[in-house]
Amino acid sequence: MSYNARDSMLPIGTDKCRCTVCGLYLNSSHAFEKHRVGYPERRCRTVEELLLLGWSTNATGHWITAKRPAGSVTCGVGAAIGSKSYSGAGVSSMPLGMAVSVAG
Ligand SMILES: [Zn+2]
Repeated sequence: MSYNARDSMLPIGTDKCRCTVCGLYLNSSHAFEKHRVGYPERRCRTVEELLLLGWSTNATGHWITAKRPAGSVTCGVGAAIGSKSYSGAGVSSMPLGMAVSVAG
């Protein structure tokens, strides 16, 4: 797929991306991958789900994943060390049933 019209939200040379399914702008391909859930049928998390997960939008309006607490293992190092035991199947473990009941 090629970009016909340059999207100012997607500057060349950055890792920012836009989901063609839900239309959200993500600050990185990592964030993009994280907002897609489900197997074998993938879907996008809703904005409500993202907010519950602690996601937020940055100054440019791109979604960013939850900030990690200071002092925790960073993504790269942790992934390298823990990759043996982490299968990546944990995405579906979030209790989506909790997504309601936050009214007023
Ligand atoms: Zn999406």
